[in-house]
Amino acid sequence: MCFAHNDNVCSVKNTSLPISQIFQAATVVSTCVRACYTPQMQTYSHAILTAALNRPLKKWRARNPERIPPVQTGALMLGSILPDVLLIAISGIAIASDFARGVFRDPRFTQLTPDTPTPTELLDLSMTMRLFDVWFFENRWIISAQNIFHSPLILTTLIIVGYQLWRRGQKRGAALFWIACAALLHSLIDIPLHTNDGPLLLFPFNWTYRYFSPLSYWDPNYYGREWSIFEHGLDVVLLVWLGWSNRGWLRSRIGRKNDSLELGVD
Ligand SMILES: [Zn+2]
Repeated sequence: MCFAHNDNVCSVKNTSLPISQIFQAATVVSTCVRACYTPQMQTYSHAILTAALNRPLKKWRARNPERIPPVQTGALMLGSILPDVLLIAISGIAIASDFARGVFRDPRFTQLTPDTPTPTELLDLSMTMRLFDVWFFENRWIISAQNIFHSPLILTTLIIVGYQLWRRGQKRGAALFWIACAALLHSLIDIPLHTNDGPLLLFPFNWTYRYFSPLSYWDPNYYGREWSIFEHGLDVVLLVWLGWSNRGWLRSRIGRKNDSLELGVD
């Protein structure tokens, strides 16, 4: 597929693309990125924030070994992204379908801006747009996929179950406890960062009730740009702090890798 020439097969023999064609290709890529925007705070930001909490939580647990289940880093990290995983997978299918049908190269799509409502003809054309503009609010399967691990009621229940299992000596209880804790933190951060598309607060008992926030993580009409700058600035600060506080571990990993290379072992 040739993005630069808006055709399935590129008919231009010259392999070096002129600047204007490179810009055209970049526009198509940015349109795909816009379509990939899912109605939740960037999942990687949740993961970075949770990774930054790992060490303080372990110290807190070390002071309270009788009352708090052992902190499991893998469980924490899984829980931090779990709420978004199902919708990301469904988005991937929708985006792949649109991509295969050439939807993103449609001029009506490339002219779309983040702060304008989606035209009806684009909803008919694009599965991705239908997913986020219609099914996200009306389709019971999509609502379930998005809310099952965002639901404060379900996650609180899982925290209680995990804690009780751990108290009875079952190690898997600790993993369940920390997965659910990280997922609940994710959801509690999502709730005030959405105007009309946040987690359903009373799911599975109510399928429409959301908190309408004056702030949106993505919508420029509700400080989405400002939030995005803050969020990614925070990501950078936390990543630098994580790198610094784990520098001993990183150094030992790099040293071990170098030793393996010198010995010819992979
Ligand atoms: Zn989320």
